[in-house]
Amino acid sequence: MSAVAVPPAPVPTAVTARRGDRARLDAVVRTGAAAALWLGLALVSYWWAGGGGVADLGSWALRLTSLGRLTGLLSAVLLLVQVLLMARIPVLEHAYGQDELARKHRIVGFTSFNLMLAHLVLITWGYAAGELRRTPATLWDLVIRYPGMLLATAGTVCLVMVVVTSVKAARRTLRYESWHLIHLYAYLGVGLALPHQLWTGHEFLHSAATTLFWWALWGAAAGSVLVWRIALPLVRSARHALRVTSVVPEGQGIVSVYMTGRQLDRLGAEAGQFFTWRFLTGPGWTRAHPYSLSAAPDGRSLRITVKDLGDGSGALRSVRRGTRVLVEGPYGRLSARARTRRKVAFIAAGVGITPLRALAEELDYVPGHAVLLYRFTDKPLFDRELARLSRERGLQVVMLPGHRRAPGSWLGAGIGQASDLAALRYWVPDIAGRDVYVCGPDAWAEDVRRTTEAAGLPPDRFHVESFGW
Ligand SMILES: Cc1cc2nc3c(=O)[nH]c(=O)nc-3n(C[C@H](O)[C@H](O)[C@H](O)COP(=O)(O)OP(=O)(O)OC[C@H]3O[C@@H](n4cnc5c(N)ncnc54)[C@H](O)[C@@H]3O)c2cc1C
Repeated sequence: MSAVAVPPAPVPTAVTARRGDRARLDAVVRTGAAAALWLGLALVSYWWAGGGGVADLGSWALRLTSLGRLTGLLSAVLLLVQVLLMARIPVLEHAYGQDELARKHRIVGFTSFNLMLAHLVLITWGYAAGELRRTPATLWDLVIRYPGMLLATAGTVCLVMVVVTSVKAARRTLRYESWHLIHLYAYLGVGLALPHQLWTGHEFLHSAATTLFWWALWGAAAGSVLVWRIALPLVRSARHALRVTSVVPEGQGIVSVYMTGRQLDRLGAEAGQFFTWRFLTGPGWTRAHPYSLSAAPDGRSLRITVKDLGDGSGALRSVRRGTRVLVEGPYGRLSARARTRRKVAFIAAGVGITPLRALAEELDYVPGHAVLLYRFTDKPLFDRELARLSRERGLQVVMLPGHRRAPGSWLGAGIGQASDLAALRYWVPDIAGRDVYVCGPDAWAEDVRRTTEAAGLPPDRFHVESFGW
């Protein structure tokens, strides 16, 4: 362990004035997005109530059908919201970051699915006059005779497949690529549900306002996917024409890939962000992989640094100079965008140092205002670059070598007997007053979160990027 102590220096006030503006804007967007979601749910419930939904609650069979309609409407709103959450809409990407959006997408997706199951059961039961034993025949009748219902059934099968493979236990048994491919069927499932909503769904068409609402929501979901998931990455990739310039081994199965392209200053990338990359080397190009920038983008070149963990990452070793690269991004809010304080702390484990190394280069700070705690097992990555940042920028670097010392601890062996909290307070006594940027394995990052919270850091100043899916 080595610590470089550098005395603090005055803070540039112009920079301080700007800091936090984007974080505040993001907070407003998050509040607005949550309000829009609840408003949408309240609106369809209001239309349901006004359309006789509450009056129908009187008799048993009508009550079932009425509740079936309500659950169907709520499920449909959430179905489209979960598409919007993963559509890479820039304003949401900035406000939440992709891992948080994925977490919300998961919660909204499961809720929508459960409501859809309730809708299916309640409507069928209601149409069977509230008699359970008649429901199988009624279900058959509904599927065969009602317009759009065969398509909706096919859509439901797609969604069941996606949800089953997304349950954590099942997900662990699947390769990322297989899971991702199955997940694309969700779009088909959502698309197949639309006709039955239009042809049989009274609430969709009974007034100009409801028709406008539903078409706007459908249009927004489909349009966002087409624009931000498909068109924008294609346009960006064509416009910037990225190519590999060199692949440099960093040791321990890790390589750095350097790339250049046209007008990279207009790519809009910031240190700490990541792209999803496709190297056009052969058949493997269909599988995109997310990697963070490991150097601050300088407008002329980009660098990623990748650990060989499987087929995709391992193949980078043999990528040739001149190879074309397609990108999606930049994504993520582990960047200057999230910063609100003058002082920062970076906490990294293993290859999780990549975005933090870039941030340590790009963020503005004066000597003594930025500290890096870096956990690694054998040999640190970027040791010379970190030494230079320490020398030239006054970055304090605390190296934490060794295997994890105990379950639940994020520190390496060789630290001694001090608790994680005591050690953190020793290295960074004012941790609670800083922005803390964290990157490493999920479980490790959770341990860091617990310790920083115990040290008094407010949760909104803990910025983390997860390398998991
Ligand atoms: C936002 C983000 C930034 C990342 N940045 C870096 C980085 O800078 N350097 C680095 O070395 N690694 C990074 N990773 C992890 C990297 O994406 C995976 O290690 C890589 O995709 C593995 O692919 P593979 O085919 O070699 O391995 P596989 O054999 O397919 O899988 C090996 C491991 O990687 C996981 N994985 C596979 N594909 C993905 C994927 N598309 N997204 C997330 N996890 C996946 C698998 O669950 C498994 O645990 C990042 C991941 C994310 C989500």
